[in-house]
Amino acid sequence: MHYFGSVKFYKHLIFSVIFLFLIIPYIISLYFVIQNARLKDKLVYFQDNKIDYINSYIESKNINNFIKNKVEDILVSETIPESVLNENLLTNNTSFSYQNKYNELYVERDEFVLLNDNDKVAYLTFDDGPSDVTWDVLNTLEDYGIYAAFFVTYKDDAESLEIYKEIVNRGHTLAIHSSSHNYKEIYNSVDDFLEDFNKLFVHIYNITGIKPKIFRFPGGSINPYNYNIYIQLHAEMLRRGFIFYDWNVSSGDADYSVTKDSIIKSVTESLEGKNKAIVLMHDSAKKKTTAATLSEVIELIKNKGYRFEKLDNTVYPITFSYTN
Ligand SMILES: [Zn+2]
Repeated sequence: MHYFGSVKFYKHLIFSVIFLFLIIPYIISLYFVIQNARLKDKLVYFQDNKIDYINSYIESKNINNFIKNKVEDILVSETIPESVLNENLLTNNTSFSYQNKYNELYVERDEFVLLNDNDKVAYLTFDDGPSDVTWDVLNTLEDYGIYAAFFVTYKDDAESLEIYKEIVNRGHTLAIHSSSHNYKEIYNSVDDFLEDFNKLFVHIYNITGIKPKIFRFPGGSINPYNYNIYIQLHAEMLRRGFIFYDWNVSSGDADYSVTKDSIIKSVTESLEGKNKAIVLMHDSAKKKTTAATLSEVIELIKNKGYRFEKLDNTVYPITFSYTN
């Protein structure tokens, strides 16, 4: 008897169809459950790293420049810019009470050492540490004899205290990023920023005996969170002797889908046409790819003819533009 057309065949056919009707919706819903979990993950990550996204967007639009004039105005005059005073007069707020706070929060400013026109210099910088990967980063830097700047956050576990000290002992620049790294809190007002900054400044001084002289604003010197206060904020920090640095070369390692290749690509592209490169990377347990790719990044920058120097307050700042 032929199978096709037999009763058995139709029986199997009906069973198969019913089976498919039952299983297909399960497969489809399973697909959506997985997809949903992925998107949720991505959304949470995006919310955590909003500023990094915004900054890489800003950077990709190529609107980062020196703020030469503005910074020089402030550095030279050592006073609050007129625009700030006017703004404060207009808002009936003529006092800067924060200027009288934290009397120990001052550092001595050193002379800038300017580069020659054809110097190609790269400065490696690591934000958000100490972390699980700091030792790896420190060891790779030591292998190459390179000195970097670590813009750190506030941590007080034994391991982190060891790391602060080690950064200093190995000759790197220990610099301030933020105690809390919470944009909404620190950029709420100049007072709030100073409180957060001072907490880390005192902490680092107590542990290492060093007064950090440079810092990096979380999210960059001008960002959507400090937009209303950044002029006062910049002026106040410069008045206290601190110099701040943004970056003009991004490793893109804050990106959700970061890979070794994407870091290499991002550094290669953003180095293009720059003699002076301040390279932004992250020292964070979540960014293991950065530490794993560091040797390759160093080789890449070296091969493009740059020499490495340590970022400290003698380096003329690279900061995002006021006008843009
Ligand atoms: Zn950061």
